[in-house]
Order: sequence, then C-alpha cells, then structure tokens
Amino acid sequence: MSTTRQIVCGSCGRVNRLPVERAAEGARCGACHQPMFTGHPIEVDEEAFSRHVANNDIPVLVDVWAPWCGPCRAMAPMFERAAQQLDPKVRLLKLNSDNAPSVSSRFNISGIPTLLLMRGGREIARQAGAMDARSIVAWTEAGLTRSERDHP
Ligand SMILES: [Zn+2]
Repeated sequence: MSTTRQIVCGSCGRVNRLPVERAAEGARCGACHQPMFTGHPIEVDEEAFSRHVANNDIPVLVDVWAPWCGPCRAMAPMFERAAQQLDPKVRLLKLNSDNAPSVSSRFNISGIPTLLLMRGGREIARQAGAMDARSIVAWTEAGLTRSERDHP
C-alpha cells in the first residue's frame, strides 16, 4: 500500500506527493508554496484539465460551463458552495467549454452545464443541467460510493 498520494497543485499544476495522514487542508505546494486546497474550484484550460484528471489520486469533479449560458452562471455559486464541502476530498475544476473544444468532443458534451465526476482517469458519473449545492454534494458522494463499491 502506498503511503502517499499524488495531488496536482491548483496554482502551478505541479504534481505533489502528500502523505495520506497529513491533513490536505494545511498542505502547501512544494513548487509554488501556495495552499494545495483553498475551498474554491479551480479554473482550468484543456491542458490543466488533462493534467488534473491524469495525475490526481483523489476524485475530480468538473463543471463544464460557458459564460453565455444562463443556467451555468446560476449554478456557479452553487458549485462554489459545493467546493467548500467537498474540498479536499475531491478536486473541483471549472472548464469553460468555449475554450475546450477537444475535451468537449472527447467527452461528448452535448449540453451545459454538465458535471463530470472522474476517478483514476475514468469518468464515473455525469449529470447535465443545473443543480443546487446540496444536490451537487449528494450526487458526488453517491457517485463515489458506487464507484468504490464497483471498482475498489
Ligand atoms: Zn504549486
């Protein structure tokens, strides 16, 4: 069993190895010295999205949105609130689909907002349409429970 886990820094993108017993809340990046978790979602481009999905040992929850999308803007503060509850157990990302055509087509995103829940580089759940903060947290935890049961 590994006693460390890989977490991608939200500020500089460096992959950090953190001891599992160390509280992730207090951890700082070894490269840029910023806190590893701030309780806020991280805005990512396609490159940062791929790095987070490939290298995080914790689950990644992605809000695929666009600035012109009313329901996306309405959900933004809900996603922000969900981050306060899910951080640092889950890494929350925001991906602007206007700037992410290849991710949108690879994941076949047909409408926004779409939430993608990823674990170990795989999509384990997705949900289209706006949700409130409580629903986002409950949906994420249900998806993780299901995934851990089926693919421990
Ligand atoms: Zn960093």
